[in-house]
Order: sequence, then C-alpha cells, then structure tokens
Amino acid sequence: MYPGSFDPLTYGHLDIIQRGAAIFDKVIVAILKNAGKEPLFSSAERIAMIEEAVGAGGRVKVDVFDGLLVDYVERMNASVILRGVRAVSDFEFEFQMALMNRRLNSRIETIFMMPSEAYSFVSSRLVKEVGALGGNLSGVVPPHVERSLSARFREARTR
Ligand code: ADP
Repeated sequence: MYPGSFDPLTYGHLDIIQRGAAIFDKVIVAILKNAGKEPLFSSAERIAMIEEAVGAGGRVKVDVFDGLLVDYVERMNASVILRGVRAVSDFEFEFQMALMNRRLNSRIETIFMMPSEAYSFVSSRLVKEVGALGGNLSGVVPPHVERSLSARFREARTR
C-alpha cells in the first residue's frame, strides 16, 4: 500500500511505485481523500493521472481512501505500507507515523524506499509553486501532469 496525497503525481512518486512493483506482487497507490487541506486536483483527477502514468492491467492499482490508514490497509488485505524517503528532513515525520501505525496495528509493517537521487528534491508542494509561476517542469512530472498543471493555473488566472 503506497499512501499519499499525490497532488499531483511526480516522477519521484513514480520512481517509488516502480521500485515497489519490482518487489511486491501488487502495489495499491492509495490517495488520501481528507488531507485537511484543499487539494489542487480532485481525487478523480489524481486517479486518472496516476492510471495514465502506470498503465492498466499491471501490478499497480489506484484507489482512494479516508479514515485511518491501518484500517484501510487491513480491509484491502495488504500487510505493508510503502513510503518514500527523500532526505533527512522526511525522516522524523515518517518515523513518527511508522511507529504510530505500528502501535495501531502491529501486523502491518512500514517499508521505506529511496528514490533515484535525480528525484530527491522533488515534492508535490514545490511542483505546485513552480507550476503556479509558469516554470518548466519537464523531467520532474510526466508530460500529462505538466499539461494538467498548466491548464489548472491558466483557469485560476482567468477567474
Ligand atoms: P509530497 O510529500 O510530495 O506531497 P505525498 O504526500 O504524495 O507527497 O507523499 C507520498 C509518499 O511519497 C511519501 O512517503 C513521500 O515521502 C513520498 N515521496 C514524495 N515525493 C517523493 C520523491 N520525490 N521521492 C521519493 N519519495 C517521494
């Protein structure tokens, strides 16, 4: 189970999805619905973006969840939470979450993977900031995500 906001999907996320799919029989990319903040893209838009990037019929499935992650993991008969760590800055938060999730359900293990160093600086937050200012995001997000970002920010400017 690879949970996150994916708002939007980046090549960093895809790197982790591919590494996960090389190890596990099945990877469920789980989009967190109620992250407490207003997302740039709806859940449906994020599902479509991820599905377009990973293709259909493979080991990777895309789903949306809200509520407690460990409950969702159990409901889906999964046993591993996959997370990506970019830098030391990710570590503290990820460490806290992994231990809290273990306390909530000790049968579920969290596994961390490191992306290619080419993506270690990439975050959805930064992608949105650069996108809003019209910066070039090729090589950072897939072309269809870049197009969706441009369209979304164009809409925002004409509102
Ligand atoms: P972000 O932190 O970019 O908003 P998400 O909330 O969607 O991303 O994160 C989902 C998971 O993907 C988290 O474990 C996060 O650390 C990981 N992740 C995000 N971007 C990258 C990246 N560039 N490389 C590796 N892992 C990443």
